[in-house]
Amino acid sequence: MNLTIKKALISVTDNYITTDVQVVNGKITAIAPNLEIIGTEINGENKLLLPGFFNAHTHSSEMWQRGVIPPLPLELWLAHLYDFTPLEVEQIYLSALGTAVETLLSGGTSVVDHLVLIPGKELETIATAVRAYQEVGIRAFIAPLIQDQSLSAGIPNGKAQLNHEPYFRPLAETLAIVEAAVKQFHQPEAGINILVAPTGIQLCSDDLFTGCIALSNKYNLCRHTHLLETKAQEKLAEEKYGCTGVEHLQEIGFLNSGTTLAHCVWLSKSDINILAQTQSTVVHNPLSNLRLGSGIAPIIKYIQAGINVTFGCDGASSNDSQDLLEAIKIGSILHNVTERDYQNWITPRQALGMASLGGAKGLNVENQLGSLTVGKQADLVLYDLNNLSLLPRTDPISLLVLGRPINVVNSAWVNGKQIINNGQITTINVDELRQEIFNRSHWGTQPKSVNVDKLSPHYRQVMGLD
Ligand SMILES: [Zn+2]
Repeated sequence: MNLTIKKALISVTDNYITTDVQVVNGKITAIAPNLEIIGTEINGENKLLLPGFFNAHTHSSEMWQRGVIPPLPLELWLAHLYDFTPLEVEQIYLSALGTAVETLLSGGTSVVDHLVLIPGKELETIATAVRAYQEVGIRAFIAPLIQDQSLSAGIPNGKAQLNHEPYFRPLAETLAIVEAAVKQFHQPEAGINILVAPTGIQLCSDDLFTGCIALSNKYNLCRHTHLLETKAQEKLAEEKYGCTGVEHLQEIGFLNSGTTLAHCVWLSKSDINILAQTQSTVVHNPLSNLRLGSGIAPIIKYIQAGINVTFGCDGASSNDSQDLLEAIKIGSILHNVTERDYQNWITPRQALGMASLGGAKGLNVENQLGSLTVGKQADLVLYDLNNLSLLPRTDPISLLVLGRPINVVNSAWVNGKQIINNGQITTINVDELRQEIFNRSHWGTQPKSVNVDKLSPHYRQVMGLD
């Protein structure tokens, strides 16, 4: 875990310098020209060195359904997703590997996997994702996705009186699964973190949130949830609580500086103040929000209010990829159409700061990760500036964010351990992974989802579409 990167381009305030970077025992120990070579020598010439990004919200097992779910809004899209969700542990393993590989090859060295659990095999699902992420070597924040209400409860009632099927697993059992996972797998020093992660106000009771808060306090865990992703959820919060979802989460004490909130598309002015006050982090998933028609999160307003913002790909069937650079690009320039004052537009450098330090802040690791700083862990990515998609030699950070970088990651390290060398993943056999995913899938369209047909009439009615 000792290495010295020679003559890499690094970014300094508004410019670049060429320098050496030394890593000892997984930590950055020096950044200066002409350093003595300790450990492996890495040629950084004509390469850009950046801190690794965070893929701060995804659901790895959705990889199995990417490309196949028809254009639908979240609530109906979820119904389709549930109808064909992977039920084999081996699938969890392969899609976690795939998610990690695609994240790494697009500049990410950390992933937050809001992990969908196979019913009856919950702990095994988590153990399998842990194994996959350890094999690849990506830093993993596994957030077991839990809820205690059945899917139809996620759509507002409107004027209808609806009865929802009870959720199949008692709440106490669900919380016990999360606690068992924490005891078995939560090892931040080893690169595996467990988060408490209710799926969101739309499908979770206050008791579930309170149970998660207690676990988070007891074991010092970060918190993760979806928040006000759609207009329907905004309506639902009003029905359920008589206030906004953000106000309610603050009231029950869920929001703090270790809380990352995926989406936050439908927030009020006072909601924005609450997120700023509680130092919560917004995870912006622009591709998913576009794909599901959820809306455009007012990210520039959040930034102006001092809220920490970072990026996520979201699950691969609401995206339908896992390319972090793509999410960063769209997540930046998307807001130029909603914000008239171009002086507030997100700059490429700002975007990369959000993707790296922003992610680290949200996960309470800003003292250890997220920037090229002596004393921090060496989660690093080296980009090949000789790649045609990053030529000519203009401003590499601008081109990385605004261009269409293809196969540009030359090397990557997590905790000083090399995971990508010369554009290739070194820790697992990616050819075998491709073959396995190929063998376990087939070309074609999915049959019609029964759940979508069941939920559509009420959804259309309550959302005023008929
Ligand atoms: Zn999500």
